Amino acid sequence: MTIAAHITSLRKRIPQEVQIIAVSKTKPIEALLEAYQAGQRAFGENKVQEMLQKQPLMPPDTAWHLIGHLQTNKVKYIVPFVSLIHSVDSFKLLAEINKEAMRIDRKVECLLQLHIASEESKFGLSFDEAHQLLRSDQFRHFTHVKVKGLMGMATFTDDIQQVRREFLQLKDYFDEIKNTYFADDVKFDTLSMGMSGDFEIAIACGSTMVRIGSLIFGERNYNH
Ligand SMILES: *Cc1c(COP(=O)(O)O)cnc(C)c1O
Repeated sequence: MTIAAHITSLRKRIPQEVQIIAVSKTKPIEALLEAYQAGQRAFGENKVQEMLQKQPLMPPDTAWHLIGHLQTNKVKYIVPFVSLIHSVDSFKLLAEINKEAMRIDRKVECLLQLHIASEESKFGLSFDEAHQLLRSDQFRHFTHVKVKGLMGMATFTDDIQQVRREFLQLKDYFDEIKNTYFADDVKFDTLSMGMSGDFEIAIACGSTMVRIGSLIFGERNYNH
């Protein structure tokens, strides 16, 4: 099946209101262009360097989503064009995004990445850390970032019930954070959860944005 056919079949399986981010990490520009020609506009990359290489080669209305761990010293390179940073996992990182966005008078949309998996290795804030960040005085003075919601990754496991529990946990966190800090804010509306192997569970648990790589572009040669 072609990339275009994969996208068409995915769109049939995913409700209209759930946004699909095509995760194009490790894939050549030809693959991204093929997806673009099939109507796909939002692309996810997990490395700043790779995003910077691809961005000038794609049409200007391509939306770039940074989904991987972001180092503070690389923030300045993506702030001018990035659509959404899914992986804000520290106060320091959010402060840096705000600083660089202010410098160029842009408001950068972000998600807080919460740690929901049982694996140690995945980045993310705990629920308590997210609360601490959101209720801090400094956060209220961040005029150039817009926190739009949360992102999380479930444990890599065949145990569907565990994946479901973790996604439901993240949905609960999302609702509680929305009610506590963003009650009147219609723009706090994004819950980024679900990948190729678990997007259907994620959508059933309330996901509004899925990050799909291998189901669109095929398997990657190495794991990121
Ligand atoms: C690679 C990656 C994905 C997509 O993974 P697939 O299993 O290929 O769909 C989604 N989210 C993040 C954060 C990733 O790094």
